[in-house]
Amino acid sequence: MYSRLFAPVLAPRPCAFADSRSEAAMGRLVMKFGGTSVADIERIRNVAQHVKREVGAGHEVAVVVSAMAGTTNRLVEWCREAAILHDAREYDTVVAAGEQVTSGLLAIALQGIGVPARSWQGWQIPIATTDAHGLARILEIDGAELIRRFQERAEVAVISGFQGVHNETRRITTLGRGGSDTSAVAVAAAIHADRCDIYTDVDGVYTSDPRVVPKARRLEKIAFEEMLEFASLGAKVLQVRSVELGMVHNVRICVRSSFEQPDTGDARGSPAGTLICDEEEIVEQHVVTGIAFSKDEAQISIRRVRDKPGVAAAIFGPLAEANVNVDMIVQNVSGDGATTDITFTVPAADYERASAVLAGSRPAIGYERVDGANDVAKVSVIGIGMRSHAGVAAQAFRALAERGINIRAITTSEIKFSLLIDAAYTELAVRTLHSLYGLDR
Ligand code: ADP
Ligand code: ASP
Ligand code: MG
Repeated sequence: MYSRLFAPVLAPRPCAFADSRSEAAMGRLVMKFGGTSVADIERIRNVAQHVKREVGAGHEVAVVVSAMAGTTNRLVEWCREAAILHDAREYDTVVAAGEQVTSGLLAIALQGIGVPARSWQGWQIPIATTDAHGLARILEIDGAELIRRFQERAEVAVISGFQGVHNETRRITTLGRGGSDTSAVAVAAAIHADRCDIYTDVDGVYTSDPRVVPKARRLEKIAFEEMLEFASLGAKVLQVRSVELGMVHNVRICVRSSFEQPDTGDARGSPAGTLICDEEEIVEQHVVTGIAFSKDEAQISIRRVRDKPGVAAAIFGPLAEANVNVDMIVQNVSGDGATTDITFTVPAADYERASAVLAGSRPAIGYERVDGANDVAKVSVIGIGMRSHAGVAAQAFRALAERGINIRAITTSEIKFSLLIDAAYTELAVRTLHSLYGLDR
């Protein structure tokens, strides 16, 4: 799908390599820096040095920046203070501002150390998106002007992440929290970059969040499919859509630290960090690759629902219409043939809305009552090796039972299983499973 959407920029690769840059080591890079990496002027200067290093190695560089750490949260909060229910178009106008500041500042810092650079906002490139304000999808990026400037002016492009523009309305859009990762991978696809380096405050993707599991290990490589699960099940190191885009466009993504002095060199190489790649590239296979978790979950149980055809549609149809993202659905087989219980989870932020929707459709569904819990967490075990190994989940059930942790709901798929537990036990459960599957350092 994306190749079609990116068609205008996926035309034959510009012959940048045919002319003056014939040496193998030269290439084109996207370097993305997250909020903590650009948190103040000192760190922006540090980022400028990273960029200078790659430019010095002969690479053409597009940089994608996030807002300074804490800025987007503050902008979101201001929108809420102004009005709890506000116009999503104006929300985007406000929250896109954080990235505008950092792109300008980094361009200034680069120019200050003799690196030609120019800042670009989403609308200037343009990065065309849907009009789903607050959660827009990138449709198309025209990278031609950026490439022309690489070649004619040796100019670094400093692009504001997270933002785009809806072509028909000309309004600024944003891509959802963590969206700068997606901007970076999309730009990499559009300009045919050899690699997309995601610089952050950790030096790679770990077997679990290193803030919660001190014994977590850095992964040299992780398969796109596994990274997709990691990202969608709570590991915020990469936004889910960035991984989807990388997979579809075959972008070489490397997660690495902006706080270290990394190596330079071959643009197709794998610098210290974690390479997101195809499954075939991974030599050392483990049954379990890692543990992800999310505390932003709420559980809803509908008691004594009438057990007849059409009930699931009556429940989940209106929820979908209200844009509530339903996850883990568990339905019992009815004991008496008349009624049953249905449990599912929704993002904590959607809990109130989901409850209101269910109350509204009670006559159509027919149930006794709705029970809810906001203090639940989802812990997920991920690994491609699970495809060919049985009994992996059973080990987890036993280990959690031994620690007195009750499992509220379970879902499984080919390469992962998820357990819903009381939020208070999240850290204990994650560390227990991390040790159980031999992932500790
Ligand atoms: P940035 O601001 O650079 O985009 P984020 O805060 O969005 O950075 O993502 C990096 C954070 O992701 C890390 O600080 C870490 O706490 C968290 N994280 C969660 N799970 C993982 C994981 N499996 N490996 C690495 N980091 C993880
Ligand atoms: N600044 C945006 C956020 O905090 C986008 C990003 O950092 O990726 O969500
Ligand atoms: Mg992020």
